[in-house]
Amino acid sequence: MLKVHPNGYWGLYRVLHDNLVDEQVREERVAAEALLVKTRSMFERHFGHMARKERDVVLAATTSQPMITMSREVPKQCPACGSQGWVAGEANVEGIAVHCAACDLEVDSKLLFHLGDLDEDVVLDDDPHHYVDEPPVDEDIYKGR
Ligand SMILES: [Zn+2]
Repeated sequence: MLKVHPNGYWGLYRVLHDNLVDEQVREERVAAEALLVKTRSMFERHFGHMARKERDVVLAATTSQPMITMSREVPKQCPACGSQGWVAGEANVEGIAVHCAACDLEVDSKLLFHLGDLDEDVVLDDDPHHYVDEPPVDEDIYKGR
């Protein structure tokens, strides 16, 4: 005789659901770590042979301007190579991106979570009046790549 208790069923469902979420988080974490490994070796290839002094000069020039521009850009240490990277963000949409010109690290909102608190300055340090007169932003610009 087959007996399935309702709580048993939903309990099982919840376990499956949690496992799926865990699995996705793990995959994203692996992707984030793989990205760091890749960009670190890129950095090493480009700058590893330079003398420290020369490298500092080149890096300062390379990283002085953000390459991804949104309504706000904040300089932030790159989690991969330690150079000055940039976090770009929009206040009203979930469009946050990190880019480092030195090692070519580029991270979107999804993987950002695994790389620490890189987005906090962009989100918190914001002036709401800045956006009042602007037309609505098309989110696809940030999400459709
Ligand atoms: Zn970097």
